[in-house]
Amino acid sequence: MKNKEADSLLKFIDASPTPYHAVQNIAKELRDAGAEELKENESWNCEAGKSYYVIRNDSSIIGFKIPSQENAKASAFNIVAAHTDSPCLKLKPMKKDKVGNYQQWGVEIYGGVLLNSWLDRDLCLSGRVSYVQNGELNHKLISIDDKFFRVPQLAIHLDREVNKGLKLNAETHMVPVIGLESKNELDSEILKKTAVKGLKQEDIKSVDLFFHDALESTYGGLNDEFIYAPRIDNLAMSHAAYRALNNFSSKSKVSMVALFDHEEVGSESAQGACSNFLSSTLERIALCIGNEREDYLKMLSESFLISADMAHALHPNYMERHDGEHRPLINQGPVIKTNARQRYATDSRTFARFAMFCDQAKVKYQVFAGRNDIPCGSTVGPLVSSRLGMDTLDVGNPQLSMHSIREMAGSEDHKQMIKVFGEMFKE
Ligand SMILES: [Zn+2]
Repeated sequence: MKNKEADSLLKFIDASPTPYHAVQNIAKELRDAGAEELKENESWNCEAGKSYYVIRNDSSIIGFKIPSQENAKASAFNIVAAHTDSPCLKLKPMKKDKVGNYQQWGVEIYGGVLLNSWLDRDLCLSGRVSYVQNGELNHKLISIDDKFFRVPQLAIHLDREVNKGLKLNAETHMVPVIGLESKNELDSEILKKTAVKGLKQEDIKSVDLFFHDALESTYGGLNDEFIYAPRIDNLAMSHAAYRALNNFSSKSKVSMVALFDHEEVGSESAQGACSNFLSSTLERIALCIGNEREDYLKMLSESFLISADMAHALHPNYMERHDGEHRPLINQGPVIKTNARQRYATDSRTFARFAMFCDQAKVKYQVFAGRNDIPCGSTVGPLVSSRLGMDTLDVGNPQLSMHSIREMAGSEDHKQMIKVFGEMFKE
């Protein structure tokens, strides 16, 4: 069941090893569809019918379309929010003390990593390099994608009990091997990949680099019904959001995608969902199209936010982990997530509105509620809705292996979700 949208998603994931790369690629897609970039430190001038995007700190991006109807005062915002980051191993600032003749570099565990999935994988290293040249501070994205690193698992002969349950120490067992001792150290490879003429080692002041899987994404299953890829959570929903924004327009409402970094570590950062990035962007747009502050607050109360983050599909080998009646199936459509403790922002009003979008798009939907004895995760939905007081619900497509280095989801579900987002952006 290969299809154009899933093809496009797999390409996007492979080209986006870090949130920085994801944002760069999304910005390009929005630009190719006619959007212009706005800078937060400049004055904005938004025109009816045009689309724009704004980036904060290279890793969060908000894209939006101004309604085509002139003077669409006190209209509303229709938003899909998702996140650009995924659990991974982040390079520590200083390299590790030498053991034997190995070159190693310590890592921090970024987010809720399924540690075992990172063992014995071919790893590459990508991210952002900050350097000073001729007294000027610069930043550049790099990807060391032609050298492969590894976190080797201990042989079974040295741990006979391992199959009774693998125990990994996040500090001592997860340190990647970069190579053997040689003159070519990781620093010199980073300098080479930064590829700036005349740049010296000491000019590189700091890096944000993340290890990631080297293997290309692919379809899977007898009938290509699956996709196998890293970072499906949540590049899949980021991709679905901007594809829908590019394909659909509204006459009277501002359509928007808000894609945040740092969801996997709690969203508390300058560009995370708890920051003022979204609220200040919304207010600036409202003022830009000729509204007063009161009109802006009226707009907020009319607005709608779909918090889109991947959902748990039924796992065939762990049936008992799911509530009997709420077991989302792969390729059976978008999942509406509910949680009484407000870990998900859905309520009956927002549920019904999303169900209406699904009906309009002729797409089936499913419902997820967790077991009371297994606490569920959360999303940017409750964070944003509690700050902005906006009608919000949580949805996502079903997937397996969430937070593994290599996840899996359905190839059909992806295009269905894009259609449903489109129904909202047409409103
Ligand atoms: Zn997620």
